[in-house]
Amino acid sequence: MTQPDDRTDRWLVVGAGPSGLSVSLALRCAGVDFEGVEAGSAVGGMWNMDNPGGAMYESAHFISSAARSGWADLPMPDHYPTYPRWWEIRDYIGGWAAHHGLAEFYTFDTRVTEAVPVDTGNREFWDVTLSTGEVRRYRGLVACPGFQRVPNVPAYPGTFSGEARHSQTYKSASEFHRKRVMVVGAGNSAVDIAVDAAIAAERAVISTRRAYWFFPKLIGGVPLDCFAINSVSSQDRLRRFLEIHVGDVGRVGFGTPDHPPLAHHPILNDQILHHLSHGDLVARPEVDRFDGSTVRFVNGSTEELDLIIWATGYLDRVPFVATENCRISSRDTDNDLFIWMFHRRHPQMMALGPANLAAGGYWALAASADLIANHIRDQRQHPERWQQMRRIIEGPEPDLSGGYSYYQKPGHLNYVNAAALDRYGAELAEELGFEPLAHPADFKPPELIDIDGWLDDPRPLSMPSHGSLAPIPYQPRDLIDG
Ligand SMILES: Cc1cc2nc3c(=O)[nH]c(=O)nc-3n(C[C@H](O)[C@H](O)[C@H](O)COP(=O)(O)OP(=O)(O)OC[C@H]3O[C@@H](n4cnc5c(N)ncnc54)[C@H](O)[C@@H]3O)c2cc1C
Repeated sequence: MTQPDDRTDRWLVVGAGPSGLSVSLALRCAGVDFEGVEAGSAVGGMWNMDNPGGAMYESAHFISSAARSGWADLPMPDHYPTYPRWWEIRDYIGGWAAHHGLAEFYTFDTRVTEAVPVDTGNREFWDVTLSTGEVRRYRGLVACPGFQRVPNVPAYPGTFSGEARHSQTYKSASEFHRKRVMVVGAGNSAVDIAVDAAIAAERAVISTRRAYWFFPKLIGGVPLDCFAINSVSSQDRLRRFLEIHVGDVGRVGFGTPDHPPLAHHPILNDQILHHLSHGDLVARPEVDRFDGSTVRFVNGSTEELDLIIWATGYLDRVPFVATENCRISSRDTDNDLFIWMFHRRHPQMMALGPANLAAGGYWALAASADLIANHIRDQRQHPERWQQMRRIIEGPEPDLSGGYSYYQKPGHLNYVNAAALDRYGAELAEELGFEPLAHPADFKPPELIDIDGWLDDPRPLSMPSHGSLAPIPYQPRDLIDG
């Protein structure tokens, strides 16, 4: 076997999307030696449609608002729309990375194909194989490959004779011309793609296993993520609001949701119910079986179809690490990652991205990146504090639900309240004496409107400025010093 190239003096960051870039800036501010590899030819992650294997498509927009979603030190420009388009997010990420000079730390067009922990007796390293065939040994690995990478496709009896593929391959509504199309699933991508089908396909069908709450993109004139909805009772009152303002989704073919609003990632889309109400899109329940071009549903109804798009989500996996070396399971008992970041069994591996952040944004990624970079720096500079943090990592998982009632079903258990994670991270940083690095020291999560008060007294609200994330001018430490 070829001897790995020795890079044990540095860490490897995999991926130059928002997570990898946040980690890179934090490591750089911490003075930790690292380098990055990125499978695509530029920064931007999935928002850069030229990068391979991403989940992006032409009609995609942000689901969280521009005002709440950027990095705190450089908010999205005020000329951006409330919900920016995919290429505006790509350009924003590229601009932020350029502002901090992060691309120079990366080798592009280079993919990690495999990463394995190596126990040398007294310390762990990670051996990483690249798409070039090269094998390198690193001090440690921070995996930020994006966690919408490994498609999840359910199996049903029978054989479908048409074309069936996962939404990861979907790019444009032009793929639907003159076709009878079914989109399976009801996440945000699924409903976007179903809306594209409603407009472009000869016939458009959406099949879901259960009923969902559909949120308008603006409530009282402002985005949903401008509201603080911090309790189960608020969720109940929100249910009442949706019942009145959106109405019974049973009328367009879905049943009644079996969970409160915001129990999982909210589906924000004004167009889906519009197209269902106009008959341009037809709602069907779960698939029962296939028979050639005929799809039979569990209620006995059928459709003749040419194309099925499985918008059925992704498996939580680091694609280049064997599952036994990193289980990112939907069950606490099988989950190797403490707060979805720090490996409990392999101290030289961390990840950013597996947590599905509710009401978070890239500021929350930067806050998490600071925890990672502080801990990595401690290994050399403050070994006692490293050990203290390791004891925390190997201990019980904190409650990151923020007081919400979240859906306790596979595929939803990595749903984390961003404010709760931010609070927990801040407490941890204070307890351990961690420094702010990529994330401003005096950052406060954006001020939110109390939903209960607003539901008691609904009134028009003003749109927050995109700069509202950055109450103070901020520069990372090394940029000020140097
Ligand atoms: C339709 C849609 C709408 C969304 N809306 C929002 C929103 O409104 N707000 C929000 O905060 N998030 C949203 N997201 C979530 C999105 O995941 C994040 O915005 C963000 O892109 C996550 O960043 P990341 O760096 O973790 O992953 P990614 O953006 O996926 O970046 C990962 C990078 O790693 C690279 N990579 C992967 N594997 C390898 C490998 N083996 N070797 C080397 N490089 C590799 C990839 O090429 C990629 O560049 C949305 C997602 C979708 C699909």
